Amino acid sequence: MPEEETLRVAGVVKESIVDGPGLRYVIFTQGCPHRCEGCHNAHSWPTEGGQFRAVDALLAEIRHDSLLTGVTLSGGEPFLQARPLAALAQRVKALGLTVWLYTGYRWEELLAENDPHRLALLEHTDVLVDGRFDQTRKSYAARFRGSLNQRLIHVPQSLAQGRVVLWGD
Ligand code: SF4
Repeated sequence: MPEEETLRVAGVVKESIVDGPGLRYVIFTQGCPHRCEGCHNAHSWPTEGGQFRAVDALLAEIRHDSLLTGVTLSGGEPFLQARPLAALAQRVKALGLTVWLYTGYRWEELLAENDPHRLALLEHTDVLVDGRFDQTRKSYAARFRGSLNQRLIHVPQSLAQGRVVLWGD
């Protein structure tokens, strides 16, 4: 099957209320280079692990649930599979759903790389939760993020203004 049509995933959660606002379908991608101390998803680190899922099959499940607010891409590190995820995110947006994306990279790193597939994925993302998990800054009071160093970035406004605009500002 062509690379664009499959994802290597650690798992999915079909209905979540903790990975962004509303009811969300969460895709945990397989493979992560960040190795954050205290990571709760260490099984998602090996790039050879997990299982293959067809993008079409994931979209069929998403379409089937009329209660969903959006889709959250988490990990693992989603940007390791930016090309198929950009295609998926574009189709999720076409359904009228929002896309949230959790990454261990910082916003500035992603922009500096100038990788076309990673930029395409950003362009189909509403909110980016960026930065590695820092267990010294872990807080259960931090809404939708694991540690206080991570930012909830409003991606369309940030791209348009050329500066980080936080979601909810
Ligand atoms: S980026 Fe996420 S999945 Fe990767 S090591 Fe850090 S906390 Fe774990």
